[in-house]
Amino acid sequence: MNTESFNWEYAPAPEAKDHAKIKKQYDLFINGKFTKPLSKKYFATTSPSSLEKLAEVAEANENDVNAAVKAARVAYEKYWKKLTAKERGKYIFRIARIIQERSRELAVIESMDGGKPIRESRDFDIPNAANYFFYYAGWADKLEYAFPNKTPKSLGVAAQIIPWNFPLLMAAWKIAPALATGNTVVLKPAEGTPLTALKLAEIIQYADLPPGVVNIITGFGATGAAMVNHKDVNKIAFTGSTDVGKIIQKAVAGSNKKLTLELGGKAANIVFDDAPINQAVEGIVNGIFFNQGHVCCAGSRLFVQENVAEEVISKLKERMETLIVGDPLDKNTDIGAINSKEQLDKINSYLHIGKEEGLEIHQSNCNVPSKGYFCKPTLFIGASQSNRVVQEEIFGPVLTIQTFRTIEEVIEKANNIPYGLSAGVWTDKGSKIFNLTTKLRAGVVWANTYNKFDPTSPFGGYKESGFGREGGLHGLLPYITF
Ligand code: ADP
Repeated sequence: MNTESFNWEYAPAPEAKDHAKIKKQYDLFINGKFTKPLSKKYFATTSPSSLEKLAEVAEANENDVNAAVKAARVAYEKYWKKLTAKERGKYIFRIARIIQERSRELAVIESMDGGKPIRESRDFDIPNAANYFFYYAGWADKLEYAFPNKTPKSLGVAAQIIPWNFPLLMAAWKIAPALATGNTVVLKPAEGTPLTALKLAEIIQYADLPPGVVNIITGFGATGAAMVNHKDVNKIAFTGSTDVGKIIQKAVAGSNKKLTLELGGKAANIVFDDAPINQAVEGIVNGIFFNQGHVCCAGSRLFVQENVAEEVISKLKERMETLIVGDPLDKNTDIGAINSKEQLDKINSYLHIGKEEGLEIHQSNCNVPSKGYFCKPTLFIGASQSNRVVQEEIFGPVLTIQTFRTIEEVIEKANNIPYGLSAGVWTDKGSKIFNLTTKLRAGVVWANTYNKFDPTSPFGGYKESGFGREGGLHGLLPYITF
C-alpha cells in the first residue's frame, strides 16, 4: 500500500468555543450552593494544549471536607433516604437530560481542560456520561428486581475521588449508581481537570436536587485524603493510580467503610494469525493511540502471532502516518494533548528507558504543535516480558510489541503482569475467544473490538488493577448492603 496516498492535508476544522461558559473562579459546591472555601485558597486549571489559564478553582481543606460531608449526611438522613425510589429516579433522569442538552458545551470544556480530541469528548465521553445517568435512573425503583428476595439498603455518605482521564464520565460512573441506591455523595475531580465536574454541579443545581445530596469539592491529594479519612463517610470509591489506591486501602483498613478501587492497567491486545488484520490494526490504533493512551484499559501491550507479525507491524506503521496529533478542539485531530507537563515528562522518561533497554523505537513522522504538551505515537518493537516499558504503566501513546507462537505462551505472557484490568483478542475463531476469556486474568476482555463501553456492562479489575465493579447491575453492589 502506498502511504503517501493517505497523507492528505486537512484544513483546520476547529470547534467553536464561544458557547462554552467558563467562570473566572469556581467555589466549592456544598449543600446545593457554590460556597467560598474556608481555606480561602484557589488554584489554576490550565489547558494542556494552549497553556492558557482557564479558571481558578477552590482548594478544599479539612474544614471544607467536613462541611461537605456534613451536608451529605444531613441530606441523607433528612431527605434522600426517605424519598421514594421513583422520585430518586426522576432526579437522576433529569440530570441525564440536562447533560444531553448541554453536551456541546461540556464536550468543548472537556477538551479544553483535559486535552482530549473533541471527537472523543463529543462522541464518547459526554454521550456516555448521560447514558450512565439514564441507565441508573432506571434501576432506582427496581432494586428489588435486581436482587430478588433481598432487601437492598443504602449505605449513607459516599466519598468519591476521580482521575483526569475521563473527568465527566468518571463522575457519572460514580454519582449515578450512588444516587440510584439512595446514598448521598461528596465527589472530588482531579486537580488538573475540575471544570466539567463543576459544570455538573451547576447542572445538579439546575435539576433542583435537594441541597447536600451531591457535593462537589476541588483540591489536590490532601483533599482526597481528608475525604478518605473522614469518620462519617460510609463508602469510598476511588479511580486513579495504583500507588494512591494502596495508600487508601491502608487508610481504610480496620474501619467500617466499604471500598472500591479502579486502578492502573497494562492491557494485552492479542492478534492471532487468523484475525481480520486490517480491522485488528484499526483496533490497535483505537486501543492505544486515540485518547493519547490516557486510559487505564489502553491496549498498551501488543502480542502478535509470529507468522503475521511483519504484516501487522508494517500496516500499523502505515496507519500511524495518517494520525493527526494536534489541537484537541480540531475535529480532525486523532491524538490530542498529554494532560500535564508531569505526565509528558513521565512518558518521555519511559521513551528513554525503552531505548536504554535496547528496543527498536518507531515514531510516526507527524508534526507536533510547538506549544503545549504533545507526544508522537510510538512503537517499541521486539519487546520482551522483562522490559520495564512492558511491565509498568506509561499512560501515553506508547505501544510495546511482542510476538508469540502458541496460545499457551500468549496467555502466560499476557497474565504475567501485576495488572489485570482489560484485554483484547483478535481472531476468527469463537472457540479461541472463549478459551482466552476464561484464562485471561482481566476484568474485561474485548473480542475483535476494543475500548467498547456500555452502561449495562460491568467494568473493573483483577490484582493491582483494583476490585469492585462499575456499570451494570454489578455496579449497584458497592453502594448497598442487605
Ligand atoms: P493519576 O496518576 O491518574 O493522576 P492519582 O492517583 O494521582 O492518579 O490521582 C487520582 C485522584 O486521586 C485525584 O483526584 C487526586 O487528587 C487524588 N489523590 C491523590 N492522592 C491522594 C490521596 N493520598 N488520597 C486520596 N486521594 C488522592
